[in-house]
Amino acid sequence: MDWRRLAVLIAAGAAHLWISRRTEETRRDGGTGPHMDTSVVWILPAMVLLPAWMAVVSMLLLRVQLYPVARRPLYRYTFGTAGILLAALASLFVIRFSGIHVTETFGARESLLLALAGAAYFVVNAIAIGGVIALSTPQPTWTAVVGSSRDNAMAALTVSLGALAALAIAHSWLAPLFLVPLLGAVDWGLLQIENLKGDARTDHKTQLLNSRGWHEQTGREMARARRQQGLIAVAVIDLDHFKQVNDTWGHPAGDAVLRAVGTVLRETTRQGDVVGRFGGEEFVLLLPDTDADQAARVAERVRMGVAEMHVAATDKRGQPVLISHRTASIGIASGPGATSDLDDLLRSADAAVYEAKHGGRNQVRVADPAQAHSPAAPEL
Ligand code: GH3
Ligand code: MG
Ligand code: MG
Repeated sequence: MDWRRLAVLIAAGAAHLWISRRTEETRRDGGTGPHMDTSVVWILPAMVLLPAWMAVVSMLLLRVQLYPVARRPLYRYTFGTAGILLAALASLFVIRFSGIHVTETFGARESLLLALAGAAYFVVNAIAIGGVIALSTPQPTWTAVVGSSRDNAMAALTVSLGALAALAIAHSWLAPLFLVPLLGAVDWGLLQIENLKGDARTDHKTQLLNSRGWHEQTGREMARARRQQGLIAVAVIDLDHFKQVNDTWGHPAGDAVLRAVGTVLRETTRQGDVVGRFGGEEFVLLLPDTDADQAARVAERVRMGVAEMHVAATDKRGQPVLISHRTASIGIASGPGATSDLDDLLRSADAAVYEAKHGGRNQVRVADPAQAHSPAAPEL
């Protein structure tokens, strides 16, 4: 029976991992990543139902399978595995120490014991993983160490599912036949939620961040800048006489121009820059670790990129047109990341755009930090 359970746990773990690999990838790509992965659904039953050595072997086999999906550096993955092993051993200890045998029948006593084992797993995992993060991050934040409340809720859910799996497999070793599809359904729901959250942050015309996504991401960048004492710059880009594009060739052609500008912005910015479109024909950049001069050079590249666009579109009668010679007015504001307020920078950059428009459009203006709202901002 032990061998049968071992085989079924490994097979179910592999099937579950294959079904949930997309969600695991999404979770992996989102920030620091979760503090607990879904393999606990199978690790906890192994600890409860198998002899100790088999339980540890099955846990290691499950972790090895997850490695290609997790795509973490090997040392981090090994630390993570060590953390999970500690958590698993804690739950094993609770089960063995109680002297209660939970392999065949599950009553109230056994269920409470299982809850205790799950809690032990949860707590030791949180301490082990949080400890590694605290020790390996230069300036760890509380959320980075403890994990977000959502991460913790997810971890608690996963442990509960593991306990449920242990109950079911204790009853019948073939229970994974029903468990794997159930977990697949849970996973599908989670993936939908992740996708919807991505949608809510994206501007669909350009695939850049929308206002909400931009503010969320810049909030994180500003927090980082505050810790690192660096400079930070904001650029606001407003297309010139954009209404003419719509009036001359129609709205779909205008949309094609907006998409092309999105491409220019993606191509002229660096990895860490935050690029957004708040709606209309106005785009916004947050440039971390960038002073006003560097930001002006980026803006100049954007301005030239827009000027060099040749956008293939269709006019109001459906005839193909090539739209070129478009221009943009760009305003820049910068300041020390530690003390600058993002809304102030945006206001200053907006005022600089206004200056650029008044100065004849198709130009970059830098807001004077000393007199942010003065009309006498220097021309580049
Ligand atoms: P200025 O040089 O002063 O900025 O002139 P402008 O025409 O660009 O400025 P204005 O703000 O008067 O016009 C913006 C136009 O952008 C009006 C609106 O029809 C158009 N627009 C806003 N959002 C979209 C969109 O999603 N698609 C298209 N095709 N046009 C849009
Ligand atoms: Mg505008
Ligand atoms: Mg405009």
